Amino acid sequence: MSIPNLILTYVVVLLAALILVALYSEFRTRRFAPAESEDRIFRCEKCGYVYTDDPDVDRSRCSQCGQTNDAIEF
Ligand SMILES: [Zn+2]
Repeated sequence: MSIPNLILTYVVVLLAALILVALYSEFRTRRFAPAESEDRIFRCEKCGYVYTDDPDVDRSRCSQCGQTNDAIEF
């Protein structure tokens, strides 16, 4: 194998490794992004205030007017 071929092989392997790392980090970001927003979203029936609460809470009290609201399901 000649020197230019060795350099070309090295560059191709390096680029392939970089692409793999980029794809891997992109995959990780997509996997972990939804986990951060597991909180339930509530919209107050009385005053329209939109807020979030823990995922294990079925009904949450509005911090603006005290009305108890059901979680919004998507
Ligand atoms: Zn309210």
